[in-house]
Amino acid sequence: MAIARVEPLTTARALRGPFDYALPDRLAHVDIGSVLLVPFGPRRLLGVVVDVAESSELDPSRLVEPVRAIAAGVTPELVRLGQWVGHEYCSTAARGLELVLPPGTVSRGKPPPPKLELRAEITPAGGAALDGAVRLGARQREVLGRLDDAGAELTAIDLGVDRAALRRLQDRGYVSLREVPVNRRPEVPVVGARSERVELNPDQRAAVDAIVAGLDGRGRELLLHGVTGSGKTEVYLAAAEAALERGRGVIALVPEIALTPQTLGRFRARLGEQVALLHSRLTPGQRRDEWTRLRSGEARVAVGPRSAIFAPIDALGLVIVDEEHEASYKQEGDPRYDARDVARHRARGAGAVLVAGTATPRPESWLTMERIELPTRADGRSLPDVEVLDMRGLPGSAGPLHPRTREALVAAAGSGGKAIVLVNRRGWAPFLDCRSCGHAFGCPRCDVSLVVHSGELRCHHCGHREAAPEACGECGSVTLAQHGAGTERAERIVADLVAPHPVFRLDSDTAAGSGAHAEILSRFERAESGILLGTQMVAKGHDFPDVTLGVVLDADATLRFPDFRAEERTFALIAQLAGRSGRGAGDGRVLVQTLAPEAEAIRHAARHDASGFLEGELGRRQALMYPPYAHLVRVELSAPEEPKAQAGAELAARELAPRLSEGAQLLGPAPMFRRRNRYRRQLLVKSDDRVAAVSAVRDTVDAITRELRSKDVALAVDPDPS
Ligand code: ADP
Ligand code: ZN
Ligand code: ZN
Repeated sequence: MAIARVEPLTTARALRGPFDYALPDRLAHVDIGSVLLVPFGPRRLLGVVVDVAESSELDPSRLVEPVRAIAAGVTPELVRLGQWVGHEYCSTAARGLELVLPPGTVSRGKPPPPKLELRAEITPAGGAALDGAVRLGARQREVLGRLDDAGAELTAIDLGVDRAALRRLQDRGYVSLREVPVNRRPEVPVVGARSERVELNPDQRAAVDAIVAGLDGRGRELLLHGVTGSGKTEVYLAAAEAALERGRGVIALVPEIALTPQTLGRFRARLGEQVALLHSRLTPGQRRDEWTRLRSGEARVAVGPRSAIFAPIDALGLVIVDEEHEASYKQEGDPRYDARDVARHRARGAGAVLVAGTATPRPESWLTMERIELPTRADGRSLPDVEVLDMRGLPGSAGPLHPRTREALVAAAGSGGKAIVLVNRRGWAPFLDCRSCGHAFGCPRCDVSLVVHSGELRCHHCGHREAAPEACGECGSVTLAQHGAGTERAERIVADLVAPHPVFRLDSDTAAGSGAHAEILSRFERAESGILLGTQMVAKGHDFPDVTLGVVLDADATLRFPDFRAEERTFALIAQLAGRSGRGAGDGRVLVQTLAPEAEAIRHAARHDASGFLEGELGRRQALMYPPYAHLVRVELSAPEEPKAQAGAELAARELAPRLSEGAQLLGPAPMFRRRNRYRRQLLVKSDDRVAAVSAVRDTVDAITRELRSKDVALAVDPDPS
């Protein structure tokens, strides 16, 4: 008797499959990747078939049958990928498998139904009726007449009648009807999308040749290091065409849908209907239909953010990771997978080529991947001059703009040009305190300062809001001081400076609604002149030819994060912003305001020197045993009371230490700031053996989950934290 090994889709960590079920003849079609509804104790659960076998180790009389099979499932390749993700990221098989299933399988119990369209065709009887043999209403005569003229199927909408009218004609035998599934296709934003084909320059040609050699061989892993505007996207498009010509499918990952309308538009414009979009802002119906187009092979190119790495594409030939340095490739919820590593794993399994493209590579990629360089801009122009402005020693009354920044902004706007201004913090001012007693206004639920927004104070970690105080709650003084400038305040200052030229603010407050982000960018694009001002979003993805000035207001804000990636992030942010300036005609210029002009990240970014920065950064990482020279696994423990969090962390450390292999280090428990009323501690494992470190953590989690839960302590594991 055939046996299906089924992994139940449940969040319970203890319920680890697979479990055996007997397959009766009615379920003979069930195979690896099928989704089944199975009895599980008193309950019924959805499960994924991860294996089929001839026999079970269990007594056949004890095996039960699945209730039924649910719609189409996925391929064995994707089942293995889902299992791998669950395992690799210390999660469960169920959580990993959920990522590869048809959209809607888990959240709704089944994928949303297809949308059906009713199509009518005239029958011979209908033709005869039209010829006058029978009496017909005027409306019916008109409908039959149009079907007769068309000589083909028409829909109710084409005919301008309702479905009931068509059903009545069908009842009389005058038309035949059928329901046809139609695809719900997402719209693609058209910010700056171009479809015309360019003649590749020799560097681009060499890059495409390297990719094609990998396609014709057994795969390859390439880092495409190209300055912004060097024509990386053109390389992706040519490589995708080469893969398609060879019958191979393509996945192109972009960091975030809202930040990459242009890339998206260019794929669609060049490769047409073969491109399917997969992302969370689609309607459930659109997601299902785009997924189904890929599954059926009608579409062969999947474009989307990190989860698109799980697209159902057979004979995968090419995986592109655009802007590979972006932190959004790391998933924040369980499983905390890194789409770049999943991409590498999947590409290896499929013998596909992996291409990671960026102007600011990660140290990991720089060290481990074969490199192809696009050293110049495609339009042959040079990169803008970057000037570092030292903000130390400026009087506080000078405000957040350096005098040279003020001059440059006025000059740019006055000459009808455009500028981009990057401010690292949103809101009006990042801190508020009392001049008399020094009381700092903090969040009641988190140990962080509240950010001043217009008229209120907000916590950027938990969403807490309160009215802006008129006086200090501690001493009653009314002399409250705001420190620093967020996007709101910077917007006001810059707007006053460049009036009447417009300022467009882009941050998560102004770009909250769907489409708002693209709308702000396109208003900036259409404007005669003006300033685009905002958070990191302004430095990403888009390509405006008439921007001549870039400004970073507080370049060291990202440097002060207590994080081994602080330098890397700062370098990337400045270099990316510099890349947005001076495209098209006119010379570009970039001003970087900072309190730390000597910082490595800032000095190298000012010279557009990625390789110089990376060589130094790799040396530092090696000395401190940080990635890519070691692997990290972070374990976070949190509880509503501080002693519980501490006790939980100590328990975890006690259990974990003896499980670690020699040469691995365990750091902590270290306190983290309280968030959402939860006290937190973290443990950090550093090891040169990733597999051993992850499995030690996994075993620890399995051993103590129950005890932690009984003590109100929550645990989260983050392998390869970023
Ligand atoms: P990147 O992705 O590296 O930022 P893009 O592919 O967006 O670069 O190219 C930047 C600009 O240069 C685009 O407008 C693109 O159409 C143009 N471009 C790219 N390659 C060429 C080429 N070989 N010849 C002419 N223009 C090109
Ligand atoms: Zn006070
Ligand atoms: Zn808070």
